[in-house]
Amino acid sequence: MNELETVLIVDDIKMNQLIMSQCLKGIYQVKVAQNGQDCIQLANMDPQPDLILLDVMMPEFDGYQVCRQLKENPNTAKIPIIFVTGKDSDDDEQYGLEIGAVDYITKPIRPAIVKARVAAHIQIKNQRDALQYLALHDALTGLFNRYFLEECAQQRIARFRRHNEPMSVVMFDIDNFKMINDTHGHDIGDKVLQGVAKLMTQLTRKEDVVARMGGEEFVILMDCPLEDAVTKTQSMCDALAGLMPCDLLVTASFGVTAASADFMIFADLVKQADIAVYQAKYQGKNQVVCHASGTVDQDIAT
Ligand code: GH3
Ligand code: MG
Ligand code: MG
Repeated sequence: MNELETVLIVDDIKMNQLIMSQCLKGIYQVKVAQNGQDCIQLANMDPQPDLILLDVMMPEFDGYQVCRQLKENPNTAKIPIIFVTGKDSDDDEQYGLEIGAVDYITKPIRPAIVKARVAAHIQIKNQRDALQYLALHDALTGLFNRYFLEECAQQRIARFRRHNEPMSVVMFDIDNFKMINDTHGHDIGDKVLQGVAKLMTQLTRKEDVVARMGGEEFVILMDCPLEDAVTKTQSMCDALAGLMPCDLLVTASFGVTAASADFMIFADLVKQADIAVYQAKYQGKNQVVCHASGTVDQDIAT
């Protein structure tokens, strides 16, 4: 069962808080903030609100300022905001919408209107989140897809260039996967892919990006130097050989490389990692090969 969505009510008047809480309680998880500071704090805390009902006129920090601050922070920018206010001139409404609110409700508060507007905007947000998830993930394994991987890689390469933050790229390809499909059927093949994806997610850190490139080929971005990535990858290779998804011995061949002064175009890094995977296959599969300059056999690399 899905958890209830969270709605944050922000108003300095107790009675207003009460009326809005009453009409939303039971449908949503309701949180209340009395002022702008508390609103910003709660908006950044888990569970983050799925929607904020924001009063405009509050002492010190008014609703417009709060809205602008929430929109400037990438962590809170996407939370839909509905202004609830006694100001009801067209200019006020236009201004509120211009700085990023999705809607505007005027006081006196009519519970049925609050309920209906909140429901409509929560539904839009849920649809947007679902679309975004589909756009960035692989449907079979739930891992990130190639599009997200490339977006993320560009950001990490930029960080490598600017701040010299390490960036390693691991590619792996499941060994003899066609035989698994041919012998046990495509459904078992799919389950194996899901099992491998789950293991890799468990073995990596939250900052690592684990993506399915396509078929039985995966790429992982790690923000550590090459030597550490090789050590980590070797332990992943060993763990996979011990996983036995669907009671089958499943292994993979891994290639590891890292951004360097000579290589900082993502397509080139992928190419290097691919060459290393190819060499791992050539050397007997179920192993890790590192593609630092000069370590891959030239015969194979060409
Ligand atoms: P190697 O050890 O050299 O990597 O051999 P392999 O058999 O793993 O590689 P090959 O490229 O010959 O076969 C990959 C197979 O993966 C063929 C394709 O049908 C299968 N495949 C690709 N995507 C999926 C998928 O989503 N589900 C399943 N079950 N199979 C898939
Ligand atoms: Mg007020
Ligand atoms: Mg394969």
